[in-house]
Amino acid sequence: MSLQTDYLVKGCGATAMAFVDVMLQETDARFILVDRRAAPGGHWNDAYPFVRLHQPSACYGVASRALGHDRTDSTGFNQGLLELASGLEVADYFHQLMRDTFLASGRVSFHPLSELVGEPGSGTYAIRSLLSGATQPVEVRRRLVDATMTHTSIPLTHTRKFTVADGVSCVPPNDLTRLAPGWKRYTVMGAGKTAIDSVSWLLAHGAPPDSITWVLPRDPWLSNRAQMQPGLDHFDQSIGGIARQYEIFATAGSVRELCLQMEAAGRWMRLDPDVWPTMYHAATVTRLELEQLRRIGNKVRLGRVQHIDMHRMRLERGEVACDPETLYVDCTARALDHAAQAAAGQPVFEDGLIRLHMLRIYQPTFSAALIGHLEATMADDAARRPLCQPTHMTDTVEDYLQVQMVNMRNQAAWNALPELRNWIRACRLDMFGRTMAQVTADDAPRREVLGRLMAATGPALQNLQRLTAGLAEGREAATATAA
Ligand SMILES: Cc1cc2nc3c(=O)[nH]c(=O)nc-3n(C[C@H](O)[C@H](O)[C@H](O)COP(=O)(O)OP(=O)(O)OC[C@H]3O[C@@H](n4cnc5c(N)ncnc54)[C@H](O)[C@@H]3O)c2cc1C
Repeated sequence: MSLQTDYLVKGCGATAMAFVDVMLQETDARFILVDRRAAPGGHWNDAYPFVRLHQPSACYGVASRALGHDRTDSTGFNQGLLELASGLEVADYFHQLMRDTFLASGRVSFHPLSELVGEPGSGTYAIRSLLSGATQPVEVRRRLVDATMTHTSIPLTHTRKFTVADGVSCVPPNDLTRLAPGWKRYTVMGAGKTAIDSVSWLLAHGAPPDSITWVLPRDPWLSNRAQMQPGLDHFDQSIGGIARQYEIFATAGSVRELCLQMEAAGRWMRLDPDVWPTMYHAATVTRLELEQLRRIGNKVRLGRVQHIDMHRMRLERGEVACDPETLYVDCTARALDHAAQAAAGQPVFEDGLIRLHMLRIYQPTFSAALIGHLEATMADDAARRPLCQPTHMTDTVEDYLQVQMVNMRNQAAWNALPELRNWIRACRLDMFGRTMAQVTADDAPRREVLGRLMAATGPALQNLQRLTAGLAEGREAATATAA
């Protein structure tokens, strides 16, 4: 016998739950969520023990339920800034949401340890249990929702692209807390946020800086978390920072100049003042954390690791000798999935199908909630599509500039619709709209900042078009590489 539902959701991670949460509030539809994992919350169930959100808890999760308590941290790397939920807190948040809101509504059923069978958009779907192998067909009255568009890859479950000789201990960061004691040396591989977290964790727990080797295939530009805080208390840094960023976008003569000005404005930072970063994955750190990271002198910049044996590590551009008493920490899962980038060309809304793309850069849960609101409130896909140009995770500054333009165009389209603009400003997942809406008419200094931001938006878009067109011809790429 077939199961029946209005919406069948492939995946039950953060994006699926942010979408269903809004749809539960704004429609009377019924939902079936299916996930290969044993619990709701997606990759957060397999996160390493010391992971924290990169962004304040205040604007992560789903629209209807607060995450955290809007506290300001008084200790640690994040002191003075809004709290960052731990991975355990995030997973627990999603577990509670499923139990107390979704299942309690009587309109949601969840199939864990199961996979969706059937190509999204095909119209023929079934759920197969990963334990029994039993398959149940599903009749979908409205749409299949593909909530796997971020293609999140994590070290615990990814397939390594390098080999390790017998006897070498190479572990995902999930095992670091348990296995770290007793090693003479640690080698952390990767340049993204997971590697940064692993290096920071080792230092914070007493590993001497010279016991740590950091393999950096490329250097990353890092975002300054102090400039990514919602609320009027942080207005000057955060909204003022965006205004400054748009002014930089509007006037920079080259991509290199843009990067340098972002650095001078305190929005971007780098690990080493003498090394030009070529990667931008939007990893976020504080100045205190950066100071710690800079204590690591032993950085290997010879490309990606290819093979590790007891006495040496082979990389793309050379070899380094290694101490046999080294624990290797694999942080090389690629945040950016090329399949995801290719899929970004596919529309969010199609007949019988919704793809939960990111509509605002690096804000997957806000984006999924917004797509839910558009599905719930708009008449047809022709009206929805102009509001939904997909963005994707970025790999380089050039990628970042490209998706910034999409971001700005989406925001302009949303702002033009008063109902939508108001919904966004009231949504807890919107990092800055609510803060801007709190500025009163007589608050002249903050009004001046908002005026600067608005004045710079059009010229920023125009100049980014010019800069990225130059890149397409390879001119700017050559400049950046030479630097
Ligand atoms: C360490 C780390 C920190 C992060 N910090 C932040 C942050 O601070 N802020 C932020 O906005 N984002 C952050 N992110 C990005 C994060 O990936 C997103 O916020 C979000 O959790 C992604 O959710 P998702 O639902 O798209 O993907 P996932 O969590 O990957 O969920 C997708 C689910 O789909 C399931 N699935 C796939 N195929 C099938 C199938 N055929 N049948 C059934 N199920 C299937 C998978 O099992 C998976 O559980 C972070 C990511 C990582 C790795």
